[in-house]
Amino acid sequence: MPNWKHFTEKEILFPVFPNGSKLKTWHELENLVPNVAHSLEYTMQLVEKIREKYNNPIQITSAWRPKDSKGPHLTGKAIDFRCLNNLPEWPLKIFNILENLDETDFRIFWEYKGYYQGWMHIDRDYRTASGQTVFNIGYLKNKNMIYERWNGISPIEKTLKAGNV
Ligand SMILES: [Zn+2]
Repeated sequence: MPNWKHFTEKEILFPVFPNGSKLKTWHELENLVPNVAHSLEYTMQLVEKIREKYNNPIQITSAWRPKDSKGPHLTGKAIDFRCLNNLPEWPLKIFNILENLDETDFRIFWEYKGYYQGWMHIDRDYRTASGQTVFNIGYLKNKNMIYERWNGISPIEKTLKAGNV
């Protein structure tokens, strides 16, 4: 059982949107799907580091999703989370923390849904031994998420620049 300072096993096993996992303990997860447990632990190491620096409550909204047809949640490599105290543009802080951590081998998506909404998706080991880091922002456009590389401009600034306020 991993020993995270800021998260319990239940927060990972029973996130806000569990999508199909019926396992009750971490031990059960390790026995049944050791690769999933291993992957979740690897990604959670990074989430724990972020949480440590961020110093604000973080809620895990999604982790292992055995009912997904594909993608990193199916294999336990991804964690979604959000900030609980409604700090505006809190994902910018998370990006900043990650840019200053000496970590590689992760992707992070800011799933942008407005000033106070949205969540962060982080996954690791997405391309074996790539060692690459990717920062993306997803915008809702005509009901579809469009993903772009993070270029230092927040969605708010972008909207202001475009004059669509
Ligand atoms: Zn996700």
